Amino acid sequence: MTSDILKDAKKLQTSFIPSGNFKESFKEKEHDKNISIQIHERSVEDEITERTFQDVSLCYQCGKCSAGCPVRYYMDIAPNKVVRLIQLGYYEEALNSDTPWLCAGCLACSVRCPKEFDLARFMDAVREIALEKGVEIKQVNILKFHNAFLDQIKNHGRSYEAGLVADYKMKTLDLFQDVDSAPGMFLKGKLILLPHNIKNRKEIKRIFKKTSGKN
Ligand code: SF4
Ligand code: SF4
Repeated sequence: MTSDILKDAKKLQTSFIPSGNFKESFKEKEHDKNISIQIHERSVEDEITERTFQDVSLCYQCGKCSAGCPVRYYMDIAPNKVVRLIQLGYYEEALNSDTPWLCAGCLACSVRCPKEFDLARFMDAVREIALEKGVEIKQVNILKFHNAFLDQIKNHGRSYEAGLVADYKMKTLDLFQDVDSAPGMFLKGKLILLPHNIKNRKEIKRIFKKTSGKN
């Protein structure tokens, strides 16, 4: 009985070994698949999935993220609605929204989500795509702050608050905004005058060069 089963199993195994013709037809199918991949236009949803390693369709619109978002009040569209716009293919509306730019990246939504959808990471991807597609960013000063912060990381390998403030002020030319909070921050040790650079800043610069496509 057992030997019959073994024989049958061997027969089955040999029947699954691809013959030369099968390999050829497999190649053809792969070829066809490649053609269909080329034809398939990558959507913004595909790009977000690729960048965040998570499926946008995971979100089932329970709204728990928006209910706990500390900056929801200032946003033009609730965070969960931005996800919905992407799910439904309303990319322009989602990319033009203020919401991804006002998102503070606090992760409250990501930890609250019952589907473990990382909405903060989703917002990062939406911002990146909006910049790459040349969408006009309405929150100009937030974009300037974003760039000033990245400049600090690129130059020092970590955040350098005094440099960030100086860089932001040079970019916005709004020299006196919040200037009265500087002495208090300085006295509390929150505004250190000289930067503490990391050891291998070359590596950080290399990462920036590579990810900005200027390699
Ligand atoms: S909490 Fe999660 S599932 Fe619910 S709406 Fe927000 S992202 Fe979608
Ligand atoms: S990460 Fe952004 S969207 Fe999520 S709760 Fe915080 S501010 Fe709101």
